[in-house]
Amino acid sequence: MGWLGIDDTDHLDGGCTTFSMFEIIQNLPKQYDYQNVSLVRLYPFAKRRTRGNAALAVEIVGEDYTELMKFLDRYWNDKLLPLAGMITNSKSSLREQSPTDPGMVWFDNKPDEQFYWNCVTQEIDMSKVPKAAKSWGGHGRIGATAVVSWPGKIHTFEAITWRRQDAVAAKSPRIVDLDKLNDVDENPDTFMSRDLRTNSVLISPRGNCPVLFGLRAKTYNSARSSCEYLINSDNTENVVGYLIFRTNQATDDHLGNDKHGTVKEVTIKRRGSTKILCQNGDVLMAFAESGDVKLLAQWLKPRDKISYNGLVSSDDAIHLERLKITESAMLKVRPKCEECQTTLKSMGKNQPLRCPKCKKRFPQSWNLVERYPPFNGWVQPPEDSMRHLAKPLDWHDAKSW
Ligand SMILES: [Zn+2]
Repeated sequence: MGWLGIDDTDHLDGGCTTFSMFEIIQNLPKQYDYQNVSLVRLYPFAKRRTRGNAALAVEIVGEDYTELMKFLDRYWNDKLLPLAGMITNSKSSLREQSPTDPGMVWFDNKPDEQFYWNCVTQEIDMSKVPKAAKSWGGHGRIGATAVVSWPGKIHTFEAITWRRQDAVAAKSPRIVDLDKLNDVDENPDTFMSRDLRTNSVLISPRGNCPVLFGLRAKTYNSARSSCEYLINSDNTENVVGYLIFRTNQATDDHLGNDKHGTVKEVTIKRRGSTKILCQNGDVLMAFAESGDVKLLAQWLKPRDKISYNGLVSSDDAIHLERLKITESAMLKVRPKCEECQTTLKSMGKNQPLRCPKCKKRFPQSWNLVERYPPFNGWVQPPEDSMRHLAKPLDWHDAKSW
C-alpha cells in the first residue's frame, strides 16, 4: 500500500482541496481500493496558508502502482496544475491570500510522524520536507507530506458532502434541511454543527466552494449516519456524494501544556481586546471575538493567579485559546469612617487617613475584600471563533483538570 497527500489546491473563488480528493477517489482505476481518508489542519499562524489550512491524504491499496501513477500524472496535469498561481481577492477575506501553489505527494512508506508535529505547531519551510517516492508541484507538498505523516491515533471525524456542478456554477445559496440539522445537533456524538449562542449554522462554508457542508463528529458511524440523514432529506439540495474524513480537529494537537502565571498588568484595548502581562514575562492577548476569554481577561487585576494556553504569535504574544483564574487577589480598600461611614482618604505617604466629610483622622490601614470572578473554571472562545484544532472544554478529562 501507499499514501497519497494533497494540499494547497483551493483558492477563494472555487478550488477546493476536499473536492479534489473526492474526484481522485471517485476516478481511481478499478484495481485500487482506498481507506483512511484523512484531513488535518496545520499550524494556524503559517504565513502561506489557504482558506482553511486543511491538507488531505488517503491510503491506496493495490499490487502494482504503475497505472495509479499514470492516473495521478493525468489528474495533476488536468486538474491541479492549472490552479497554480490563482488568487482571488475578496472583501469578505480579512487577510491577504497567498497564490495557490498546489502540491501532491506519494509515499510507499509513511514518513516519521515528527514531521506532522512540526507542521501543526510551527512554521516549516520546503527544505525540511521528507523526500517522497514521487511528488508534484510546489509549496503544497509541505501540508501534503504533513497529513501523510499524521499518526492519527487521537482523532475526530468530518463528513463532507459536495454540491452539484450547476449549483456551484450558479453560486446559489446552499440549501440544507435546518429542522433535521437540529436533530443532528442534539446527537451528543456530533459537535459544532450550530452555535446555540447565535443560532448560526456552522457546518456550511460561506465562500464559493463546492462544499455543501462538513459535519463534525466523534465517531465514524455518527458522522456517516448524520450526514446521510441530512442529504436524504427532500429539504436538502442534491449532492454529488460524500466522504468521511478522519481529522485532527478538536484534538488540541497544536498546543503545548497549559502554563501558569501571575498577572502583572492588564490593558484593555480597542473593541475590548485585552492584553495581560504576566510576572513571568508572558504577554497574553484575549481578542474582541473571544467571548468569555475576553470578559475574564478584562476582569483580571495584578496579583491574580491564572492558567492559560494558546499559540505564540509572530509578535511573541500568546493568543489565548483558554484561560482560567486559579486564585484571585484580594482587593485593598480604605476603611470607612467610624462616625459617618464615608470612605477614608490617604493624606499622603506615611500620613494618617482622613475622613473627607467630618475630617476626623485615623491611622493608616487597608481592608482586604475578596473578589469573585465571573467564571470559576476554564473559559474558551465561542464555537464560531474557536480554531478547528481546539478541543471543546467539556471534552477534557475532568480529573486531569
Ligand atoms: Zn467621617
